[in-house]
Amino acid sequence: MSLAEISARIQKAEDAAGRARGSTELIAVSKVQPNERVEAVLNEGHRLFGENKVQEAAGKWPDFRDRFESVQVHLIGPLQTNKARQAMQLFEAIHSVDRPKLANTLARLTQELGHCPDLFIQVNTGEEPQKAGVLPADADGFIKDCRDLDLPVVGLMCIPPVEEEPSLHFALLAKIAKRNGLEGLSMGMSSDFERAVALGATHVRVGSAIFGARDYG
Ligand SMILES: *Cc1c(COP(=O)(O)O)cnc(C)c1O
Repeated sequence: MSLAEISARIQKAEDAAGRARGSTELIAVSKVQPNERVEAVLNEGHRLFGENKVQEAAGKWPDFRDRFESVQVHLIGPLQTNKARQAMQLFEAIHSVDRPKLANTLARLTQELGHCPDLFIQVNTGEEPQKAGVLPADADGFIKDCRDLDLPVVGLMCIPPVEEEPSLHFALLAKIAKRNGLEGLSMGMSSDFERAVALGATHVRVGSAIFGARDYG
């Protein structure tokens, strides 16, 4: 699907939900994609991208940032504390804040570096043991702890279980955000971004629908 088609579908979903046009940001998830494909999307004028690994982003984005103006890259994958410093220097936002140790590290590094990217707290809405994120029952407490550390928390993020209707998870994430006074909702991927927009997503993370299937070979 072309970038224009995805944008048109987002706009249609915004209209249907009675939301302002342009109130959903499209994060083009470029992980694993060959540089030519990423460059093609940059040449179309798109500037907001998502990566799930610090190392991969470090190898790819400094060069693109030199060549294209106002690029923004968001980290959407898990973050180890020993990579937090590098992540804070590479990304405009981190969508995967999910545990006290990481929050404490980010707070300490913010003092040292004098800045912090926008932060989203990842919530494990499906309570899946293998998945990152705070449990829904722990979310309010963790959001408060992050705020007490003066971290710039702008919203919540989730990755619904593959086998379940994503709308239930998007609605749960929106509810937790609302009761905590958080505006940002990072939810929705290639297969369900319109349902996410319907439930208030401010950031959809779309990879394969834009770039084609990822070749992990
Ligand atoms: C890879 C990835 C996406 C994009 O998935 P697609 O199905 O290719 O759109 C979105 N969010 C996260 C956290 C991802 O790791």
